[in-house]
Amino acid sequence: MSMTSAYYQAPPGSVLDVDRDFYDRLAEAAETTDRREMVERFVIPIRSGKAWEVPAGHLCRILITPEGPQCGDFNVWNRHNPRERMWTSRTRQLQGTHVTRYDRLWSTLPYLRPLLTITKDTLEWYGVDEDGGRIHDLLGARCDPYVNRLFSERDFDFHCHSNLTRAVLPWGLTELDVHDVLNIFTVTGINADGNYFMKPSPATPGDFFEFFAEQDLLCALSTCPAGDLSVPMWGPDARDPIEVCRPLAVEVYRPAEELTRGWTPPATAPYRGVHGLGFPS
Ligand code: ZN
Repeated sequence: MSMTSAYYQAPPGSVLDVDRDFYDRLAEAAETTDRREMVERFVIPIRSGKAWEVPAGHLCRILITPEGPQCGDFNVWNRHNPRERMWTSRTRQLQGTHVTRYDRLWSTLPYLRPLLTITKDTLEWYGVDEDGGRIHDLLGARCDPYVNRLFSERDFDFHCHSNLTRAVLPWGLTELDVHDVLNIFTVTGINADGNYFMKPSPATPGDFFEFFAEQDLLCALSTCPAGDLSVPMWGPDARDPIEVCRPLAVEVYRPAEELTRGWTPPATAPYRGVHGLGFPS
C-alpha cells in the first residue's frame, strides 16, 4: 500500500463492501414505472427549506428543475432518533471528500452505520476537474447567518442554516439538530494554499442525485441562497445572486417488493465495550 492509498480499506464482505448488483437493480428499477411507485413529489422554492421522510427501503431523488442549476444543502437523521445523524468527517474518511454512486452517508457515534446509499448520480461524469474540483461536496459547512455577520453589516434570514432550521421545526427538531451538510450539485475542492474553493454548478435540467434509504430517514434540503454559485457572495465582485437561484425538486419512490427482498437495515457498529470503564461484577 502506498503512502497515499486510501487509509480505510474495506475488507471483502464488510459493511463497507457494497453489493453493487443490489443497488444497480434498484437504480434500473427507478427508470421503469412498473417497478417503482412515486409516493411523494414536491418542489422547494428558492431560498427556502423543506424536511420530509424517506421510509427504509425507499428511493429518494433530488432533481434539477427546468429552471436551471441550483446547489442544495442536505441534512439527514434517523427518523426515530435525531441523535443519529450524518457524520460528515467520518463519511469523508470512509468514502471521500465528495460522494457519488455506491457511496454511503454514515451516522454519528455510537451508531456508525449507513443512513443511505447513493444509487445514481447523473453528474458522475464530472469526476475531477483541472483544479482538483469534484461534485457533491462533504467539505464545506452550510452557509449561516452568524458567519454572514462576520462579513456583512446586515442580517440575512435565508441562509441554508436558517432554511434547514425552519424546515425541521415541524418535526420537533431545532437549530441545534441542524448539522454539517452534504452540498449536492456543488463543485468544490482544496487549492494549493489549502483553502476551500467553490465553482459554479455544472448541473443542467433533469440532472438528479438518487439514494436508497437504509433506515427510516428524516431528510431536509435547503435551496442555497447563493443559487448555482456562479455569482460571488463575498469579495470585491460580490452582489446578490438572486437571479441564479432556482428551485429543486424531490421525489420519493417505493421500489417493487421483489427488489428489496432479503434486505435488512444495517445494524449499529458492534462495539459493546464501555470505553474501558467496565462494570462492577
Ligand atoms: Zn447555502
